[in-house]
Amino acid sequence: MNEYEDEFSAEQSAHRLDDMEVVPTGVLSELVTRDGACMWLTAGPEEPEWAGDEATDREVAARICAGCGVRDACLELEFRTAGFATVGV
Ligand code: SF4
Repeated sequence: MNEYEDEFSAEQSAHRLDDMEVVPTGVLSELVTRDGACMWLTAGPEEPEWAGDEATDREVAARICAGCGVRDACLELEFRTAGFATVGV
């Protein structure tokens, strides 16, 4: 992604977050916990073994988030609850 695409993407994200401004925090929370892709991941009853995967936690999270249908709601909720200093993906 080049500098122009980054800027354009950030601007689009900002517009989408503006649309989320009127959504109550409780509704955002319900959406994210009900439909968030990460909410339905399971490794089964046993703790998973280390697979030696070189991917960092952030890279793995980014792959999961990329296919999530409630990214905007999740980001807006994160800003409301953690502020702009969030470390989320
Ligand atoms: S955007 Fe990522 S962190 Fe947020 S609900 Fe979706 S998968 Fe989970």
